Amino acid sequence: MEKKKILLITTGGTIASKNSGDGLAPEMGSKQLLDYMEALPEHYDIDVEDLMSLDSSNIQAEEWQTIARAVAAGLDDHDGIVITHGTDTMAYTASMLCYMLRDLDKPVVITGSQVPIDNMLTDARDNLYTAFAAAGSGINGVSIAFNRKIIRGCRAVKVRTMGFEAFESVNAGLLGEVYGDGLRKYVQDRRPNGIFELKDSLSTDVFLLKLIPSTKPEIFDTLRRMNYRGIVIEAFGLGGMHFIRRNLLDALERLTSEGVSVVVVSQCLYDASDLRFYEVGTKLLSCGVISGRDMTTEAAVTKLMWALGQTDDPKRIRKIFETDLAGEIAADAL
Ligand code: ASP
Repeated sequence: MEKKKILLITTGGTIASKNSGDGLAPEMGSKQLLDYMEALPEHYDIDVEDLMSLDSSNIQAEEWQTIARAVAAGLDDHDGIVITHGTDTMAYTASMLCYMLRDLDKPVVITGSQVPIDNMLTDARDNLYTAFAAAGSGINGVSIAFNRKIIRGCRAVKVRTMGFEAFESVNAGLLGEVYGDGLRKYVQDRRPNGIFELKDSLSTDVFLLKLIPSTKPEIFDTLRRMNYRGIVIEAFGLGGMHFIRRNLLDALERLTSEGVSVVVVSQCLYDASDLRFYEVGTKLLSCGVISGRDMTTEAAVTKLMWALGQTDDPKRIRKIFETDLAGEIAADAL
């Protein structure tokens, strides 16, 4: 059988880190990573691109664009792409790539590790082997391979700082999993609706606010003065926020009437927000906010950044949030 052609793009992270005396810092490129992966060349024809060498805390909007462009440039010549990346912001990068790489018809699999690849107890080798298996398996779209599981990019959340089960697939099943009999695929490939397109414009004028009981409404006026164009609010439970004594609703209405897009998600990790259930939620809806439904916070924040890069029109932003672009919203939450 002909070997699958895979492009390995490296960006840094613990997987490529060594102890710098100042703590772990990324140092290794693709050549050093592949030195630890002796079984790979037997199965895959591998090209490499060392794109950046960053702790993922330093990966921001500009790096997302650089990564998305490198993926777009490599797609035609490869069956799949593997990206190594730090775990800390991996879920944000994975979500953003889901939106930027429209109608992706090949696998783009992101992986990393909790322990550097040169450590005897590393999880890096397992994760990289799993990522290559996923990239060669035709699980189309952006995913994260970690701890032998394949998670859709816009459903992944980092839930552990140290444990090897570092990522969970929130409100959606796994795309695949490595078992004794190999990689099991749990989904039919998502068939793209159109031809692949790179849409990498985005806005960094997005703020995430986690409510606490007694949050002051004035915070929203401050955000407005700072020219934020989009705000994601992690509200309570199904999507509530207080309106007695400290009336957050009035402040929010001022914002939305001035054209700021406000998306409400839940502080709960699992299940959807539903603003129609309680009075505190329905009052919110009449303030012009957008429901984040069952999206993760990471998926909602990156979607708002991406949507504001496509349009200035709040009505179009709302429409984008009423559409499932890459599996970030379940059909029954729409
Ligand atoms: N601080 C590292 C990073 O995100 C953590 C990791 O890769 O696991 O780059």
